[in-house]
Amino acid sequence: MDGEQSGAVLERPETGSLYQVAVEQLRVAEDALGLDRGMREILESCKAELTVRFPVKMDDGYIRVFEGYRVQHNMARGPGKGGIRYHPWVELDEIRALAMWMTWKCALMDIPFGGAKGGVACQPKELSERELEHLTRRYASEISILIGADRDIPAPDVNTDARIMAWILDTISMHRGHLSPEVVTGKPLSLGGTVGRVEATGRGVMIAALKAMEHLRIPVEGARVVVQGYGNVGSHAARLLGEAGCRIVAASDSSGGVYNPGGLDPEKMGEFKGSGGRLVEYGEGEPLTNDELLTLPCEVLIPAAMESQLTGRNAHLVQARLVVEGANGPTTPEADMIFQERDIFVVPDILANAGGVVVSYLEWVQDRQRYFLELEEVDSKLDKLMKRSFAQVLDAAQQAGITMRAAALTLAVRRVVETTRDRGIYP
Ligand code: GLU
Repeated sequence: MDGEQSGAVLERPETGSLYQVAVEQLRVAEDALGLDRGMREILESCKAELTVRFPVKMDDGYIRVFEGYRVQHNMARGPGKGGIRYHPWVELDEIRALAMWMTWKCALMDIPFGGAKGGVACQPKELSERELEHLTRRYASEISILIGADRDIPAPDVNTDARIMAWILDTISMHRGHLSPEVVTGKPLSLGGTVGRVEATGRGVMIAALKAMEHLRIPVEGARVVVQGYGNVGSHAARLLGEAGCRIVAASDSSGGVYNPGGLDPEKMGEFKGSGGRLVEYGEGEPLTNDELLTLPCEVLIPAAMESQLTGRNAHLVQARLVVEGANGPTTPEADMIFQERDIFVVPDILANAGGVVVSYLEWVQDRQRYFLELEEVDSKLDKLMKRSFAQVLDAAQQAGITMRAAALTLAVRRVVETTRDRGIYP
């Protein structure tokens, strides 16, 4: 399945609560900004959390009950924004962390959204098309009390795509009695989707990687790139970096990966995946595990699969000079410390993979105005916003002598705090 990101490892790593990781990262920014206790309490909590359990009649006639969530972390700056993922690891703690990261991502990019995220615990690869549609429509109606163009706008994430967004859109539109294209983004063009959205996250990763390479004086021509996860983020990032002159030496999916120091053809790997192939069987290089892939010799490592992949266990073995986070939360705080000590430059998720939500914002604006942009306009706006935020974060990191993650979070949190203070506390 061609989702926003692909699930690249089956076992959830034993790294504890992801929400705790998100809060730990946030505290660095809170300390830097000298926030008082009340403000910290606001930022560290999720505004609303909905857990739903719902039945789906499976193809064999049996009924299965699934569990899903929609969490809104903070909506001070605008309606909730964030994807919906279908994955066996989905649990409330994970969705909370991902919702919080969306708040910071939207604030960092300075787009008028808060942070939200949703998910259903399931193995989508084992569901038929009909089962997937029924699960999606039922989940959409269960969470519809939270969803709306001015309230909370879902989008694709791990294992979800334009087709799933279309089912969500149709379900909500049927309930409301009128077509409501602006309730989701990342939908098909025929329903008010935007050109450039499918590849937007990967394009943003490419822009962030090239900016970081320029800063680190890594020559782009021939730079070795390793990509973990070959879903919607990893595959487009690999293709675009390949076009820019880099050499893609390894890539993986949930089956494992393939390594060829002479370089792999990103387009051909995409076609192989598209026809149902597993990269471990790709054949044009040496097969290897996802763990082995992370520690290959390269200049640029792009984790574009799942959270908690770079940990205290493997960070000291990483040979990349630069890590560009295509996934959300791929690096644990322990690994972050090791990277800092080892002078490995990390472009954090809320910056590196923000291209998707930036173009979601452009989609939402176009839907509301009923006026549609050309691909060049979308791409050039994305390019401008990515470069602007990259420059702001790099500047803040250099001025304060802190990591790119700490700088990005501090900038983002400062914006949310400012809005919260200006709005005041109701009543
Ligand atoms: N799921 C993507 C992310 O994690 C995109 C979210 C959106 O477009 O709302 O940023």
